[in-house]
Amino acid sequence: MPGILVVAEHSNGRFRRVSLEVLTKARELKGALGGPLAAVVAGSGVADAAGELGQYGAETVYVADHEALGSGVAAGHVDVVAGLQATHDFSAILIGATALGKDLAAALAVRLGAGLNGDSTELTAAGAGLRARRPVFGGQNLVDAEWTGGPAIALVRPNSFKPEPNGGSASVESVTPELGPVASAVKVTGRKPAEEGKISLEEASIIVSGGRGLGAPENFSYVEALAKELGAAVGASRAAVDAGWYPHPSQVGQTGKTVSPNLYIACGISGAIQHKVGMQTSDVIVAVNKDEEAPIFGFADFGVVGDLFEILPKLTELVAARKAG
Ligand SMILES: Cc1cc2nc3c(=O)[nH]c(=O)nc-3n(C[C@H](O)[C@H](O)[C@H](O)COP(=O)(O)OP(=O)(O)OC[C@H]3O[C@@H](n4cnc5c(N)ncnc54)[C@H](O)[C@@H]3O)c2cc1C
Repeated sequence: MPGILVVAEHSNGRFRRVSLEVLTKARELKGALGGPLAAVVAGSGVADAAGELGQYGAETVYVADHEALGSGVAAGHVDVVAGLQATHDFSAILIGATALGKDLAAALAVRLGAGLNGDSTELTAAGAGLRARRPVFGGQNLVDAEWTGGPAIALVRPNSFKPEPNGGSASVESVTPELGPVASAVKVTGRKPAEEGKISLEEASIIVSGGRGLGAPENFSYVEALAKELGAAVGASRAAVDAGWYPHPSQVGQTGKTVSPNLYIACGISGAIQHKVGMQTSDVIVAVNKDEEAPIFGFADFGVVGDLFEILPKLTELVAARKAG
């Protein structure tokens, strides 16, 4: 039977944004690949949330609600998805490239003897099959891959697509997972966020990023102060990361993260193509740069030509005043 299964991840009381992005894309692919479009959510205490996936195009949502699935360990999730595949024979299984998603996809591909395309940044229909694009060699080349047999398993890089609800609704079906011994062989005894209260770059609706124009690592405090007032995440260009000014997980661009916030404020970033490809789908781009010829002004929605060391403190102050008033 043809059809697409999207593996949706529920974490900290909500669906991961990448799951909704993948589901939106699957809705578009359904016309060419054939339906039905189903989603599966596995976890502990996830049953009530499942219906939300209907708003993004899932016709059926399979829910596997079990204590052993709440640990964040992929083994049980593999059992659930492999079980659904055995009964429904989906032609494509699409998974967001989160930490759990990556583990799940690799183990699932081995279990099903199926092809896996990791780090997909585009998915298109190739006849009745699926084609996935992925960057290779540090983003210097793009590869288009097609599957010669099913199911086609694709891991999708966060922020490759925009999540768009279509107001649909899904029928929710509960499935009883047949968990293998590995699912309960590992127990998570505790969790500690990398940095308490820090907003995830990939899920942030506002990002303030800093580049080489900051001049020194301590000057990221200008970017952080503005980000704090805006409730934004902090990003960085590769030049800033390579200089050791900010950690690599904050890097935006071809060899960093792809982001798509409502607002992206680039401070002291020239706008090289490798940075642009990681943030160009942001809804509104604001650039602060002292060089009016900087390439970033060629694609920013709003440009401020000036010294960031004068502009950022004023902007931070204005945002704080607006919030207080
Ligand atoms: C294979 C490959 C992959 C890459 N991947 C990435 C990637 O993922 N992400 C990425 O970002 N880059 C990536 N790069 C690097 C990219 O080509 C650029 O070198 C990098 O983006 C430049 O960073 P920048 O804009 O911070 O620095 P610069 O290009 O040096 O720009 C600094 C800017 O700050 C401005 N400035 C200086 N002082 C001030 C001030 N006081 N006030 C206001 N503005 C000021 C300058 O006018 C200038 O425009 C990659 C390159 C390669 C070859």
